[in-house]
Amino acid sequence: MAMFPVPPGAMIGILGGGQLGRMLALAAARLGFKVTVLTPEADAPASAVSARTLAADYDDAAALAELAASCQVITFEFENIPARALETLAGMGAALAPGPRALAVAQDRFDEKTFLNDAGAPTVAFAPVGSGADIRAALAALGTPLLIKTRRGGYDGKGQAWVARPGEAEEVFAALGGRPCIAEAPADFRRELAIIAARGRDGEIAVYPLTESHHERGILRRASAPARATAPTIAAAERIAATLLTALDYVGVIGIELFERDNGALLVNEFAPRVHNTGHWTLDGCEVDQFEQHIRAIAGWPLGPTAATHHVEMTNLLGAEAHDWERLAREPETRVWLYGKREARAGRKMGHVNRLGPLDR
Ligand code: AMP
Repeated sequence: MAMFPVPPGAMIGILGGGQLGRMLALAAARLGFKVTVLTPEADAPASAVSARTLAADYDDAAALAELAASCQVITFEFENIPARALETLAGMGAALAPGPRALAVAQDRFDEKTFLNDAGAPTVAFAPVGSGADIRAALAALGTPLLIKTRRGGYDGKGQAWVARPGEAEEVFAALGGRPCIAEAPADFRRELAIIAARGRDGEIAVYPLTESHHERGILRRASAPARATAPTIAAAERIAATLLTALDYVGVIGIELFERDNGALLVNEFAPRVHNTGHWTLDGCEVDQFEQHIRAIAGWPLGPTAATHHVEMTNLLGAEAHDWERLAREPETRVWLYGKREARAGRKMGHVNRLGPLDR
């Protein structure tokens, strides 16, 4: 059994080997930890900066046993880890953070929105859709336009489509593979915000300044922080974060995506039980960034201060945009983060830049 706080020198396990795992591993190294990554991907971005990689599927029993035996604490950087893998690790006595429940809730958009509403966090109106009859009922209750999303497995705008007219609803559902879906009313928001927050093993909560996020085709393009917002809006976002972290008995960093409506009210779109793209600005704009904060939290260390030191415009480098690294590196106020991915496929997150400015602009 792990003892907390986990001392420097110990091994931390990460399920998933993408850029979030890479930046977590870099932060862990800075605090004196070693990292083992479990990933099915060859040449994973996190593997290049980690002590050890277990190259296996997430449900590979031998790899999970090796991870549990060799790591003091295990976390994940990817939401679509089979819940079974976490259950297997928990059954082996591994210390998991966040726990399996947060992952299970976040993996199913219907369960997630139901959980949010039960916890007192408002969302758009929604309905489950598993059949043609369900979709007709959702149309009757919610009208059009209606956003249909697969309950599980979607990310970066994949697995969702709008229904503009009632007549096309069944076609849209079929185009999503007829898989279990959720129908959502449009959020009629004036802007999208996100809040990154953390909860330590002792229940301490730390929240970051709000991020304003801009999506294109469902993918985060830019984020700007600290976002200008009224004191009541900031307080409402912090309340939502604290409520969710406590309700989930959460340990680690969480990313919560919000819609700000015209009247200033906040709705929760979704939460990610992990470090989040809308928090990448904290790497260069906050006293302690989200990656170090996550490592501190899961290791049972004190949480760090979250105050902003700079205003940051974060821009994701998608596909071939990352080839521009030399020009970007010449900009004095720009910090370049590249994920070491070889193939710059269109739309793929290859890196990001943080452009720094003074606070209070
Ligand atoms: P998601 O995959 O749920 O994070 O959605 C990706 C993006 O689609 C969000 O960041 C919004 O820009 C947009 N979106 C998601 N849900 C809604 C909704 N109910 N109404 C309007 N836009 C939405």
